[in-house]
Amino acid sequence: MAEATHARGEATAAKPPAPAAPVGRRRGLPALVLVLLYVGLVLAPLVIAALRGGPPRAWRDELASGLALVGFVVLFLEFLLSGRFRAISGRIGIDTTMRAHQLLARTALLFLLVHPFLYTTGLQPWELPFDPTGRTSLGLTGSSILTGVAAWVLLALLVILAIGRDQLPFPYEAWRASHGLGALAVAGLGTLHALEAGRYSADPWLAGLWLGLLGLATLSLVHVYLLRPLGLLGRPWRIEAVERIADRTWSVRLVEERPGRFRFHAGQFAWATLDRSPFSLVEHPFSIASAPAQLPQLEFVIKEAGDFTSRLDRLQLGGRGYLEGPHGNFTLAGRTAEGVALIAGGVGIAPMLSLLRQAAAERDRRPWLLIYGNRHAGQIVYADELDGLRERLDLRIVHVLGEPPAGWTGPVGQFDRALLEQYVELPRMADWVYFVCGPPAMIDAVERALVELGVPIGRIVAERFRYDQA
Ligand SMILES: Cc1cc2nc3c(=O)[nH]c(=O)nc-3n(C[C@H](O)[C@H](O)[C@H](O)COP(=O)(O)OP(=O)(O)OC[C@H]3O[C@@H](n4cnc5c(N)ncnc54)[C@H](O)[C@@H]3O)c2cc1C
Repeated sequence: MAEATHARGEATAAKPPAPAAPVGRRRGLPALVLVLLYVGLVLAPLVIAALRGGPPRAWRDELASGLALVGFVVLFLEFLLSGRFRAISGRIGIDTTMRAHQLLARTALLFLLVHPFLYTTGLQPWELPFDPTGRTSLGLTGSSILTGVAAWVLLALLVILAIGRDQLPFPYEAWRASHGLGALAVAGLGTLHALEAGRYSADPWLAGLWLGLLGLATLSLVHVYLLRPLGLLGRPWRIEAVERIADRTWSVRLVEERPGRFRFHAGQFAWATLDRSPFSLVEHPFSIASAPAQLPQLEFVIKEAGDFTSRLDRLQLGGRGYLEGPHGNFTLAGRTAEGVALIAGGVGIAPMLSLLRQAAAERDRRPWLLIYGNRHAGQIVYADELDGLRERLDLRIVHVLGEPPAGWTGPVGQFDRALLEQYVELPRMADWVYFVCGPPAMIDAVERALVELGVPIGRIVAERFRYDQA
């Protein structure tokens, strides 16, 4: 395929990095604090219910109410987990946060779907006169049955659509909007149901908790879709160049219009809205391939994958871009390491470029190892620049190809233990940090192989480009 380039001005190559000040700490609450807060909030309605007491009921009725109470808080907290709040994902990483979001959604679904079937007391409103203590009858009314059933069906639908999202006949953005609004509808209907039908939710404290959580969920959506884009309006970028740099792989270069507003750690990523208003639902996460030292210039290295990434050449040069972020903990910030190993598959090279470029700018003295795998040689990006970095860094580069050209002398095949053990020398490299990025199957294979070789799991940092896989 012919090389395609279009660029504005002279910016056909990112500025070489200048030495930069060392980066600071990552923002966000530590994992332990998050877990304690989460568990505290999830248990809060059970504590309130226990304090409220009431006449004794069959254990199945108590279990049903308990599951509903816990499932409902979990559901509300899902809004915070998916809202990309740095206080939550800053330290633990957005992929861990999103994984928790998916697993907890299934837990909430299970608890909420099961709970109506556990009650031993009558569900039907015609079993009146009902007992206001909820001991002998649930005392459901027509409207509370309606809100409960609607929330129940909608919740199941939301989780099923999220799991099967890739098979849906509509774009990702439409799914995302329907997911957010659908979840808010479940939360609203569920609150109505709990306030009207819940035995314990009649307690003013518990009713207050549900209303507070509903307010928080609504606010988090307002923040994501309105306040955050409003904030981005004041931090515009200009699309400076779009260039094909390898087979189906593009470089998109931006310049910050008001320099100094965007700061990031090498290896982090951002949600980019290019050539559109920041209120657009069309935004995509990309690792930043340039170094912080190169700001106000910034580069993404993007592989064609679908609707948006296959039409990058249509981006308007000089057009506006907006970056929401930075996010992610695929960085050296806050990590101690005697050396740094980068294991990249395909476009997984993007965050590695940022790490290497920043290390060169800072004249990092540690040993670096880059193992970079591609199917064929035409997919390798910035081979010359990578070679050149060896003059400024103690860097060893190993190219691995799946389909090598004639005369290729380097390693061939997939990343596996046999390949990695040729370059990962233990115990000499036990105190290194290992960054892994690429297709999900490659990441799994590399993580497994490194652990088998004796690399401590805590020394492996992976970035998944499909964190939202079911
Ligand atoms: C943390 C992270 C960093 C990434 N860094 C890079 C990078 O440096 N270079 C690169 O080429 N690719 C990167 N990706 C992948 C990139 O985001 C997708 O390939 C791209 O969004 C696909 O968009 P599309 O419209 O072309 O394809 P589509 O067919 O619309 O999407 C293909 C898949 O990409 C994912 N995706 C699409 N839109 C979004 C979105 N708004 N939010 C989350 N996921 C979405 C979904 O899983 C979707 O099923 C990264 C992904 C993540 C999560």
